[in-house]
Amino acid sequence: MDFFDFHHHKKNISLGIYNLDLNGVPADVPYSIGIHPKAINLSVIEKQFQWLESNITEKCIAIGECGLDSFAEADLKIQEEVFLRQIRISNEIKKPVIIHCVRKFYEVISLKKYAEQPMIIHGFNKKGRIAEDLLKNNFYLSFGKAVLYNLSLQNTLKIIPLDKIFLETDNDDFNIGDLYLKVSEIKDISPEDLNKQILENLETIKNG
Ligand SMILES: [Zn+2]
Repeated sequence: MDFFDFHHHKKNISLGIYNLDLNGVPADVPYSIGIHPKAINLSVIEKQFQWLESNITEKCIAIGECGLDSFAEADLKIQEEVFLRQIRISNEIKKPVIIHCVRKFYEVISLKKYAEQPMIIHGFNKKGRIAEDLLKNNFYLSFGKAVLYNLSLQNTLKIIPLDKIFLETDNDDFNIGDLYLKVSEIKDISPEDLNKQILENLETIKNG
């Protein structure tokens, strides 16, 4: 069975959302497009936005990955401006936002009020407390490879409602089926039903 891969960077995956490389051209697969905080280049930022806005086709599922990263070169202030501008694009085209966040969860939460579309934190691997605060603010969480070995993250997953979950391979090389199997054990549901639920979640975020 084909399991849905919410966020990945590989061209050969048939069921999922392909994250377009910066300055990349959309292929004939569902994709997300955005300016990653680590890719922000102030000297060409207008060109970066031009690329983004001129490559939104009907195959575009979401804006992203975009967000805040405490290890990125750009100042936090600049990152917030670039992120907010992408939130506004998502409002305009009525598509959800896939968020990359490193150690700036509460700053991301404080920008949520500007978003009219669903927001999904990808690659979530933090403690239950942060997950709870994100859930309270209506974020979705997408989980990746870390679930396979991180016991604390497995515990966090226990408190995440099934209708707020996505699963992804991101840049990691492993079989998404193994992740579905692991999460299905944690959530006491069959991998098939988990996949069905995640496809329903996808419809929900697509419909705003
Ligand atoms: Zn990624």
